[in-house]
Amino acid sequence: MAEHHTDVIIIGMGPAGESVGGQLGEAGLNVVGIEASLVGGECPYWGCVPSKMMIRAANALAEAGRVDGLAGTATATPNWAPVARRIREQATDTWDDTVAVDRFVGKGGTFVRGRGVITGPNTVAVGDDTYVASKGIVVATGTLAAVPPIPGLADTPYWTNHEIIENEDLPGSLIVLGGGAIGAELGQVMSRFGVQVKFIEGTDRLLPRNEPEAGDVLAEVFRAEGIEVHVGQFASEVSHDGGSFTVTLADGTVVTGDKLLVATGRQTFLKELGVASIGVDDAAMFLDTDDNMQVQDGLWAVGDIAGEGMFTHLGTRQADVAAAHILGNDVEPLNLDALSAVTFTDPEVGAVGITEAEAKEAGLNVKTAFKLVGHTARGWLHQSGNEGFIKLVVDTDRDILVGATSVGPHGGEVLGLLSLAVHAQIPIPTIRSMIFAYPTFHKGIEDTLNEL
Ligand SMILES: Cc1cc2nc3c(=O)[nH]c(=O)nc-3n(C[C@H](O)[C@H](O)[C@H](O)COP(=O)(O)OP(=O)(O)OC[C@H]3O[C@@H](n4cnc5c(N)ncnc54)[C@H](O)[C@@H]3O)c2cc1C
Repeated sequence: MAEHHTDVIIIGMGPAGESVGGQLGEAGLNVVGIEASLVGGECPYWGCVPSKMMIRAANALAEAGRVDGLAGTATATPNWAPVARRIREQATDTWDDTVAVDRFVGKGGTFVRGRGVITGPNTVAVGDDTYVASKGIVVATGTLAAVPPIPGLADTPYWTNHEIIENEDLPGSLIVLGGGAIGAELGQVMSRFGVQVKFIEGTDRLLPRNEPEAGDVLAEVFRAEGIEVHVGQFASEVSHDGGSFTVTLADGTVVTGDKLLVATGRQTFLKELGVASIGVDDAAMFLDTDDNMQVQDGLWAVGDIAGEGMFTHLGTRQADVAAAHILGNDVEPLNLDALSAVTFTDPEVGAVGITEAEAKEAGLNVKTAFKLVGHTARGWLHQSGNEGFIKLVVDTDRDILVGATSVGPHGGEVLGLLSLAVHAQIPIPTIRSMIFAYPTFHKGIEDTLNEL
């Protein structure tokens, strides 16, 4: 049992914690970084990076399927082995974080492998050791897959994002519980590699956080690709007979599959973290922060746990803010009104700001414009695989965009221009006066503005 003294303690070394830790270490502070699993967190080992490698491969197969009718004929034979190898060798080093640990230590950090528990102000226990910080604690403990309390589910060998990404042998069929971004991305990949995929989404649509039109387009594409999509029905019971899963829906429909992926949201573990010992509500899902990512004196929160959105690009920017505040440097507060995110399905679904429904709920006077990608020059040229649309949400009082959605080929890239417009509150006439290159997908934004 030993007591160690430092300037700052980081609990959780995912993208957000690793970034704060690295910045503070490079600035000359003594920083202890505590990680129970792998430095890098969900994103490189079980999230963004391996899933995008899978998607890259799945999209190559889909493009091969589009040769027919456009350029002759092509036969593609899916093989998971190169994808699994790439994930193992290039993304995760076979789930080994030596490089990431060395990176943190190289920046001056002290690394501790273990589970941190806050035991009092500025104090964290890891096993028998106690760490005391002069400046405070940064919580960056992220999220893990939430497993809903559906009768029977807990007793089955279900998959989360961890198992599906580590898995090297594809099942014959897969039930995806949850039609949000994670489920939609991984389910479509599996389908394109020949797995029979069945979605179960309790709300009325896939991608329930996006504009409703996005979920509708995706469901249409999924069904056309042979994916079974059940929406508007929650699962009421799950069982496993040793070989396969059976999910019973609220209306009695029965869905069976060899494997079942739980992708119904994410959970945090504030109770286990011991925040109650410093007077913080541990019944909450997230830690509530101010503009400096500070929860209270001596406590900051960054990344998924801060509850402002669960994205790597947000977590690392929150890390910049927290690091600057700890170091006493000036930093621009984050503009969450222009938070953007992409679901990397095919078509990609990019969204920034608020949806039409959210804008109306906020009491804004709203006008929207909508244009199908297939009705733009580039979309028409593109033909096969051109499903999608651009939707703009305009605050008519200020004549600016407060939200936009871009679904289609490269929808996430088209989102770049829309994100800038929302972020910088560019007046609609200024966007309209731009000369858009012909025939780009982003020129579709001009076409959509013309619908206003
Ligand atoms: C399949 C999938 C795909 C995704 N794709 C994208 C994408 O394309 N783009 C994007 O922006 N985001 C994506 N995300 C989300 C992204 O991965 C997360 O937003 C990001 O990893 C959050 O970073 P974080 O640092 O907050 O936490 P995490 O990455 O969750 O890391 C937190 C770390 O803290 C550790 N920890 C927790 N409690 C303790 C404790 N008490 N003591 C010590 N260590 C602890 C954990 O072991 C973990 O390593 C995806 C997520 C998934 C699951």
